[in-house]
Amino acid sequence: MLIDGCVDSWSTQTLLGGFDAYDFFIKQLKSIKRLWLRFTHPFLPINLLMLTYIGINVNMCDIITSVMDVKNTLTDIVYSQNGSRQAVLHTRRGDVVTPTFMPDGTRGVVKSLTAEQVASTGVQIVLANTYHLHLQPGEEVVSRLGGVHEFGKWQGPILTDSGGFQVFSLSKLRKITEEGVRFKHPVTGEMRMITPEKSIQIQLELGADMIVAFDHLTGLDEVERGKTLEAYERTHRWLERCVKEFNRLTLGMDENQKPILFGVVQGGLDKELRRGSLEVVQSSGVGGIAIGGLSVGETKQEMYDILEFLSHQYDDSNRPRFLLGVGDPPDIRYAIEHGIDMLDCVLPTRNARHATVWIEGDHKIHLTNSKFIDDTGVIDEGCDCYTCVSGYSRGFLRHQFKVKEPLAGSLASIHNLRYLTRICESYR
Ligand SMILES: [Zn+2]
Repeated sequence: MLIDGCVDSWSTQTLLGGFDAYDFFIKQLKSIKRLWLRFTHPFLPINLLMLTYIGINVNMCDIITSVMDVKNTLTDIVYSQNGSRQAVLHTRRGDVVTPTFMPDGTRGVVKSLTAEQVASTGVQIVLANTYHLHLQPGEEVVSRLGGVHEFGKWQGPILTDSGGFQVFSLSKLRKITEEGVRFKHPVTGEMRMITPEKSIQIQLELGADMIVAFDHLTGLDEVERGKTLEAYERTHRWLERCVKEFNRLTLGMDENQKPILFGVVQGGLDKELRRGSLEVVQSSGVGGIAIGGLSVGETKQEMYDILEFLSHQYDDSNRPRFLLGVGDPPDIRYAIEHGIDMLDCVLPTRNARHATVWIEGDHKIHLTNSKFIDDTGVIDEGCDCYTCVSGYSRGFLRHQFKVKEPLAGSLASIHNLRYLTRICESYR
């Protein structure tokens, strides 16, 4: 049915624990392994012999898994003079070319878009929110419905976040303890607890190909900055618990079928803390490095300073670097030119649903502006997205936004996602 000039709603087009002598012995051996590998190549025969000796005697699966993840994650890396790098990221759902932007499929889908529409924009990976899917409908339901890929019909790689950002930023009555975060369910009112172990369990049950360790997030506004050290230290203790739980749950799984676990670097705006956190994450054996705790209240220049500092600190282990929650075009360019491979943000789709789109030069226009009432031009003449190529005019889109037709948000989301994927493609 045609209402207000378009078909209603749609267009044509996710073992161990506690202190004991055994734990202590494992830690000592791991320290020796880290020191050794720092000065030699991990796959020299003598190193493989040493790792095998340690593995056979103590905790083989844990250690071998760590090495295999580092080996297999990122290949074909080409460095550019502008500081960016392109590479092939290997996931159990296929290869991805980096740098790459990942839209947030908050509840298992990118809002207002089908999987085909998302793919048409050049998106390769979709991010799903663990917190939201855990609360509704629950990871058990998603699993019974075939897993997060079948759930939203996105067959490419899916990355789930840890749930940490949402539980710290959205939930009310939250209480942080060493065990985890207790919070009130926003719908049922019941009290829930997400621990590092629980976060890993949820993400694996959802069926994600890339998962993120549960970290302690603090903001960087004036009130929150005093908590940076506490969050930094707890994040590392929680990382160790996440790695143990990940290794326990993936024990026996074929290496090529294991998800990639990302550890999160915290440390606020303190460069020494950032350096220390990066070293802890890089030595933890995770398959990917996630940079967290940015774009949370600090200035752009403060964020840029940390990204620039970190760009000189990464090791040469060929693991993907994922900057969490950054999606403004100039920030994406800066991050990519300082060694970041993957980014995610709600910004392109949230802006689009509020009629704000990017055009050439990173300018933003608001399609509800009265000056577009008779505008027959498309959003951006130089854009090759479905919306622009199909000829949907600014005038048409302005009207559909004005009458709150959902199609307008879908068409604008397609354009904004394509705008960001084109930025990534310009570095490849
Ligand atoms: Zn477009």
